[in-house]
Amino acid sequence: MVDYHVHCRLSRHGEGELFEYVEAAIRKQLTEIGFAEHIPIPELDDPTGRMPIEDWAEYVGSLFSAKERYSEITIRFGIEADYLPSHQPYIAAFVRAYPFDYVIGSVHFVSDWDFSNMDFRSRLEEFGAKELYRRYYLLLAEAASGGLYDVIGHFDLPKRLAPEMPAEMVPLRDAALQAVKRCGLALDVNTSGLRKADDIYPAPEILAQAFAMDIPITIGSDAHRPEEVAADFAATIERLKRIGYRSCLGFERRKPYRIPL
Ligand code: ZN
Ligand code: FE
Ligand code: FE
Ligand code: ZN
Repeated sequence: MVDYHVHCRLSRHGEGELFEYVEAAIRKQLTEIGFAEHIPIPELDDPTGRMPIEDWAEYVGSLFSAKERYSEITIRFGIEADYLPSHQPYIAAFVRAYPFDYVIGSVHFVSDWDFSNMDFRSRLEEFGAKELYRRYYLLLAEAASGGLYDVIGHFDLPKRLAPEMPAEMVPLRDAALQAVKRCGLALDVNTSGLRKADDIYPAPEILAQAFAMDIPITIGSDAHRPEEVAADFAATIERLKRIGYRSCLGFERRKPYRIPL
């Protein structure tokens, strides 16, 4: 079992030192843990906390010293990089500047609204659920097509604040999934949906569609506290097997390999 989507205290909205996540993963007998910290974006005024660029060196240092110190588990150097059209040159340069094992592309913003941040949930009234989903899946298809990412994060994230997707948005969601397939990306099966929305991201019906399209997956808890590492993995892996999945992907220096479930 592997967990490819964890954060730590340095995200500024998580708790616990990086090594505490590693030790939690060892206790849970994971074979790999992948840190996918949010990309620091200096120009982004993010009042709710994102890692400032000043902390990046400390973060990378603690990751690589953990790699030395814990020989009993494989530690991967991932990143959760936003897809933000207004900052894409910076994001692309950042992603290419470090020896990442894998890059998760996530859409947390539509226009200037961080809809993933519940402090700003009242802006749903301004956009409406249909417009949120419309913009979201258009951005996600662009993200998948841009050649920068290996994995698409929490594919149906808008359900966190708008649980019912308007049916007319199904074609756009399908188009985003087709872009994931066409561009050879994987989907992040993310159990934080169980803690923050109604079910895992993506919903099992979307995963069934992805399986039929032969789209690979990674598995992550999106832990922001050490005790959330591998949260709900046993039940989630059972569900993935019922859908038909027999493996997930691991990555080393952007090269995927299969890990049996
Ligand atoms: Zn986060
Ligand atoms: Fe995210
Ligand atoms: Fe995350
Ligand atoms: Zn995430």
